[in-house]
Amino acid sequence: MIQYGKQNINDDDKKAVIDVFNSGYLTQGPQIEIFEKKLASYCNVKYALALNSGTAALHLAYLAANIGEGDEVIVPPNTFVATTNMLLACGAKLVFCDIDINTHNIDESKIESLITSKTKAIVAVDFSGRPCEYEEILNIAKKHNLLLIDDAAHSLGADYKNSKVGGIADMTTLSFHPVKSITTAEGGALLTNNRDFFERAKLLRSHGVTKNQEGENQMFELGYNYRISDLLAALGSSQLDRLDEFITKRREVVTWYEASFGSFDKAHLPAPSNESSWHLYVIRTDNKETRKLLREHLLKADIGVNFHYPAVYKHPYYQKNGFDGVVCPNMDLYHDTAITLPCHTLLEKSDIDYICKSVKSFFNE
Ligand SMILES: *Cc1c(COP(=O)(O)O)cnc(C)c1O
Repeated sequence: MIQYGKQNINDDDKKAVIDVFNSGYLTQGPQIEIFEKKLASYCNVKYALALNSGTAALHLAYLAANIGEGDEVIVPPNTFVATTNMLLACGAKLVFCDIDINTHNIDESKIESLITSKTKAIVAVDFSGRPCEYEEILNIAKKHNLLLIDDAAHSLGADYKNSKVGGIADMTTLSFHPVKSITTAEGGALLTNNRDFFERAKLLRSHGVTKNQEGENQMFELGYNYRISDLLAALGSSQLDRLDEFITKRREVVTWYEASFGSFDKAHLPAPSNESSWHLYVIRTDNKETRKLLREHLLKADIGVNFHYPAVYKHPYYQKNGFDGVVCPNMDLYHDTAITLPCHTLLEKSDIDYICKSVKSFFNE
């Protein structure tokens, strides 16, 4: 089976972890700050807080922003449920903004009409690694005095107008799950240029507890255990050294897709992008039935296709909890017709040729 996504762990990565085993630390050792400094430097941002998941990063970003009961937050429905689940966990009200059917990202032209006096923040998701239209979104956020949070779980290593994703929004969150740009097995990070957000998130990362001048632990806020371990931070640092190589390879895989598909027009191929980190390669069929049959055809050919993402508001939990009336026409179309083809750093050109041939044979080309 050709998997849709896969980690890339080499001997250097393994050695970095073994070295920590030999250092005497397992959890709160020096590797965490080393990893945070490297991440901040790579993303050209002042502060990085390493955490034990991308979901934890989202939760702490929302808490640091003081998002709570009564606040409305504008979000795209084309995302992993963690983006919106953590907003619900904070008591916020979700306002879904439709996507652009070509970029699969939030449609920035539809944001402004959703803003009310209760709107507190916009959460943008760089779906598939393609940065959102930040210039426009930042202008809207500034004009209406809203916070902008970037769920960059897909886009670590992506470029936006000659800078790396990470320092554009008020806060940016990353995930290091194995299928993402780099991995720490499980892990995530919060990036920001704002010292207050950073300090608050850091306090909440470890139970809201900090030491006073006498060295006693004192708890100031209701916090969590969202800490990453030294072992995994060392893996993260080693992976980060390889990130540019990973992004170059992902972009090469996409050029193979583009060359191999050629002028094929029976399915909608993703819009070209030199900026994307190409976490996912998603094509669309014309209708739901074709998508279903194409999926079966490719699975039979041992191609591990996937689906990113069902519309958040269509999940049973969301349907039962007040979102059954949501209509986003582009997202609804996307929901019925999108299919994710394999895209990761261990694929060969022959794999991509095989996948494209299988897609074309389905359409009798
Ligand atoms: C992976 C992912 C997350 C959650 O990250 P975890 O590290 O798995 O908690 C959040 N948002 C998006 C868009 C993701 O792809």
